[in-house]
Amino acid sequence: MSACLPKIECVDDYAGSVHLRYSYRLYPDPIQRAALARAFGCARVVFNDALAARQAAHAAGKPYVSDGEMSRRLTESKNDPARAWLREVSAVVLQQALADLNTGYRNFFASVTGKRKGPKMAPPRFRSRKDSRQSVRFTANAPFRVLDNGRLRLPKIGDIPIRWSRALPAEPSSVTVIRDAAGRFFASFVIEVTPQPLPQTDAECGIDLGLGHFAVLDDGTKVAAPRFLRRAQRKLRKAQRALARKQKGSRGREKARVQVARAHAQAANARRNFHHKLSTKVIRENQAVTVEDLSVKGLAKTRLAKSVHDAGWSAFVNMLEYKARLYGRDFRKVGRFEPTSQICSACGVKDGPKPLDVREWQCRTCGTIHDRDVNAARNIAALGRREARNARGGQVRPLAAAASAGKAGSRRSVA
Ligand SMILES: [Zn+2]
Repeated sequence: MSACLPKIECVDDYAGSVHLRYSYRLYPDPIQRAALARAFGCARVVFNDALAARQAAHAAGKPYVSDGEMSRRLTESKNDPARAWLREVSAVVLQQALADLNTGYRNFFASVTGKRKGPKMAPPRFRSRKDSRQSVRFTANAPFRVLDNGRLRLPKIGDIPIRWSRALPAEPSSVTVIRDAAGRFFASFVIEVTPQPLPQTDAECGIDLGLGHFAVLDDGTKVAAPRFLRRAQRKLRKAQRALARKQKGSRGREKARVQVARAHAQAANARRNFHHKLSTKVIRENQAVTVEDLSVKGLAKTRLAKSVHDAGWSAFVNMLEYKARLYGRDFRKVGRFEPTSQICSACGVKDGPKPLDVREWQCRTCGTIHDRDVNAARNIAALGRREARNARGGQVRPLAAAASAGKAGSRRSVA
């Protein structure tokens, strides 16, 4: 089986450093699983107790219980004989459960008072043992360690085998252990990375999610999924069909199920590999990259939804974002207020809706013949330039003007 690349996401970036999350598969033995289940349970109880205390204070008209007070109460409850089992778990895991609750409340307050942009957030809710995702976090204070034999040592849990699909680039500051709905375990490390800006370039790029292609760039480049990815996806579909034909409870079905899981992992790896290569290339070659913010909500009802999901567009966009931060590039996401496929990128006129099967059209105003996807990518690039100017306090210009300004700029030849 090919090497499995880890899932890397950008968590945060502040004070000039970038925080990346690296996830790897864990293989705890039955005893370690039991210890982890205990840790999940204890963290859940601590979280829920603290949430109940804050809700009770609120209902009684009393002030918000401070983080310090919560921490003091936790220490106290460990001495309570009825809660003595809390001591079987690393203290840091329990403190981190409190920290999660505190963060939940801070985000909620910030969104209610308008200090945090975006949609209003709900207050923290109780955790349940039935939640599909269970997790505990260890920080540097709870000395988790990566051992020479490659295992991950967790306090009061043990040395757990881990699949190192890629070496960690630096010392992690924390690790979150997750059990997902399928009962798989993962270790997710947070790493602080110092950005390494690449030499500046003048090139900029807008990317559209193509209908027939994975991505279409504003210079006309159309990127199709590579053959190795298509082959892996074909194999997966074949395995899924074979599984559907097997009788429930039969031995053949169990074998087919394993085949599907294996094909699934291979397709996921192939896709990640492809995303890594493409995102690195785009970030290296361009000073600024703009993509459309495809809020999945709006797309869910369209035919595009499935292709977005299949293509793993959001995973790719996430890679662009963190690589832009790492290499000193601008990453821009533009909203869907503008119908990028309807506006002529040459003259800026809105030419009206185009059914999904219209791949090429001629602008009724200026006569330019457009490839639907390339035109959309050009509009996205223009929107990105406009947003960047606005952010710098420049003059606000409508898309039309921004689009034609972009067209006048240098353009690389179509690959
Ligand atoms: Zn036109």
